[in-house]
Amino acid sequence: MQFIDLTQQAKRIENDVRRRMDAVLEHGQFILGPEVRQLEQQLAERAGVAHCITCSSGTDALILALRALGIGPGDGVYVPAFTFVATASAVRLVGATPIFVDVEEDTFNVSARTLQEAFARQDTGATRGGSVVSGGHSRKPRPRAIIAVDLFGQPAPYPELERLARAHDLALLADAAQSLGATLDGLPVGRLAPISTTSFFPSKPLGCYGDGGAVFTNDGQLADWCRSIRVHGKGTDKYDCVRVGMNARLDTLQAAILLAKLEIFDEELESRRRIADGYRARLSGLPGITPQRIVSGASSAWAQFTLRSPRRDRLAEVLRENGVPSMVYYPKPLHLQVANEDLGQGVGSFPRAEALCQQVLSLPMHPYLTEQEQEQVCSVISKSAQ
Ligand SMILES: *Cc1c(COP(=O)(O)O)cnc(C)c1O
Repeated sequence: MQFIDLTQQAKRIENDVRRRMDAVLEHGQFILGPEVRQLEQQLAERAGVAHCITCSSGTDALILALRALGIGPGDGVYVPAFTFVATASAVRLVGATPIFVDVEEDTFNVSARTLQEAFARQDTGATRGGSVVSGGHSRKPRPRAIIAVDLFGQPAPYPELERLARAHDLALLADAAQSLGATLDGLPVGRLAPISTTSFFPSKPLGCYGDGGAVFTNDGQLADWCRSIRVHGKGTDKYDCVRVGMNARLDTLQAAILLAKLEIFDEELESRRRIADGYRARLSGLPGITPQRIVSGASSAWAQFTLRSPRRDRLAEVLRENGVPSMVYYPKPLHLQVANEDLGQGVGSFPRAEALCQQVLSLPMHPYLTEQEQEQVCSVISKSAQ
């Protein structure tokens, strides 16, 4: 049994992928070729937004969005303490300072409540971690934005986050690297926040065969800035440089692969939902096993199926002994990562994020997981829970 099986999908779409890749080899437009535009159109349409700007990775998508929002040195950005490291690294790479926010222990996402906590910490100066060193003096960053993460595929509670962001004059960015295909109150990821980013890393719900990402927005100005920063800060002419930019394009070949994968994406999302429902039904009522809570109105893209257990390490061991792979996403919160030590947030700063790192376990999850495999996973868990 595999934790994430990419080979079955690869076999299923092989002919279509080869045909589309051959077409790229024929026309030879390897950079920003027609497939890139076609993909951007399809993704924008699916998300119900005016603009999709593809790029080289989910991390670069965050950097493009932050740059387009004008966030840089001296600025602070609220970031969950429990997420993949790239969410905070992107903030640091544009010269801004992450201000960590605890998450809800049941949904694993930030909320208006946990952000209010973070605002209070910031006001009382408890976030020494908020401080940046400039000219030998440390000063507090000026909060400019919130990045919410849709952890494991479940959208963060955007309506309440947006009200809070507006009241505090903060930009709201959705890191939807794990949630493309999810919805909240019937609205698709990509249009849940004023600007959203995603990743096409191979193991994400919509993955390519390498690195890739995208930014979604309805704001034409932000979209133009992202397109410019994506290609060396170009102005109207390619050789006219109006801002410091990057080389952050999605390869045409990767766009061609994604177009093939989009053909079966809805079906795969449906399979993920069916498998997640199966897990929830089979695991319900087991002592010490608590799956991620999905809020009403949300439909997850199920990048991961993750539960909490006070006996997590023992459970992982029993699963492994029985041939069932599992993963810990994530073993260490962002404020305790060595790279973020200089932000000065020690153990105990974000207790729910820290507890989750001790308790979470992700089970095998991909659209091709069979009933028998799922039965095997759940019977091992059920036996170990007795
Ligand atoms: C995967 C991921 C990223 C980074 O995406 P890459 O394409 O690997 O750069 C950022 N944020 C979150 C929450 C992720 O899961």
